[in-house]
Amino acid sequence: MITVEEASGIINKNLYSPKVEEVGLSEVLGRVLAEDIYADRDFPPFNRVMMDGIAIQFAAWAKGLRTFEKEGIQLAGEVQKTLDKSGNCLEVMTGAILPVNTDVVIPYEELDVDGNTVKVTSDIIKQNQNIHSQGADVNIDEKILSKGCMISTAEIGVLATVGKSFIKVLSLPKVAIISTGDELVSVEEKPLAYQIRQSNSHVLKAALKESGVEAHIHHILDDRDSLLTKLRAIVKEVDVLILSGGVSKGKKDYVPEVLNQLEFQKQFHGVIQRPGKPFWFGVRKDNKTVFALPGNPVSTYLCYQKYVKKWLFSSLGVDLKPEYAFLSEDFNFKKELTYFLQVKIYNELGKLMAQPVAGQGSGDLANLISADGFLQLPADKSLYKAGDVFPFIRYRRS
Ligand code: AMP
Ligand code: MG
Repeated sequence: MITVEEASGIINKNLYSPKVEEVGLSEVLGRVLAEDIYADRDFPPFNRVMMDGIAIQFAAWAKGLRTFEKEGIQLAGEVQKTLDKSGNCLEVMTGAILPVNTDVVIPYEELDVDGNTVKVTSDIIKQNQNIHSQGADVNIDEKILSKGCMISTAEIGVLATVGKSFIKVLSLPKVAIISTGDELVSVEEKPLAYQIRQSNSHVLKAALKESGVEAHIHHILDDRDSLLTKLRAIVKEVDVLILSGGVSKGKKDYVPEVLNQLEFQKQFHGVIQRPGKPFWFGVRKDNKTVFALPGNPVSTYLCYQKYVKKWLFSSLGVDLKPEYAFLSEDFNFKKELTYFLQVKIYNELGKLMAQPVAGQGSGDLANLISADGFLQLPADKSLYKAGDVFPFIRYRRS
């Protein structure tokens, strides 16, 4: 058995090697850029009027002129007009190109308009006011997004502005989710007294989807031959297998030996942690990877959040930043194991507080609903004090 830190280290040495693929703008959210993005024009691309009002020449104002005759109007989306006479003005609208021969925009709020005559009521006017100058934000050919950047909603606007309708991103791994267990029936079925509906695959599928990965679900009975035949076929189609169940010491826990037969090299089997102790991890020469997670629903979930998710993001070059939280009350845990305590989170004057919601152990999947994440309590202590800070693995945002 190895420690949580050793397990994380081994997983981190066995990352997936993504390729480059191109996706449409509407598909790019959450993906990792595989190309640098440059400005195809200045930002903004022309001197942009920032307020609805009039444009004048500062020189006329400086000479003492306060009343201006309207020559016309410059609307957004119109070709650039020119102010003919220095003492006149052009009405201008937000988003319009600034007319030639003007360098001040005065908003309607500071004007008295009487037909074609406009009187400026404000005393203070500055040259270039209310004009968003061409290139003020970004210059043409400037790099605005770098390879490796993960696209959030904020980056979408920039990609659209520079005309990127297709974007090169890192490919995501192909994943198969396999639940095992003779006691499990599908969601649609009515279980008999000794059966349960299988939930882990659905949780894993949804969790992967949150990170943009679409995965197929399979179910295999606790039978050596079916495991071997079915896994052999499934693994041909994917980069990674995420199994749940069948890795403990039970009489029908065949997963490790079948994976061995399929030439996966075990990297570890057993992590000094709760939940999720029987976790098995292996890789094959062709770089295919297996996470064989213990079947207890909380164990499966913790192992996904702690290890699989981190592996996925690290493979894409994204370092998921650790979060930390303050334990809100004393907590005791005597065993020499890293304990992933389920906690509810609240904010106290800017401090992230973690309130234990311990639940009934790793089979208690209903307790996951009451918590927001896991607080990682180190193995070398047994009393964890209120106010101590520990790593926090969040699975719920709000
Ligand atoms: P195992 O790791 O196969 O020994 O399973 C441990 C416990 O988790 C057993 O009580 C199983 O019934 C339960 N379990 C295993 N797989 C699933 C699943 N996909 N959904 C819900 N419970 C499961
Ligand atoms: Mg089982």
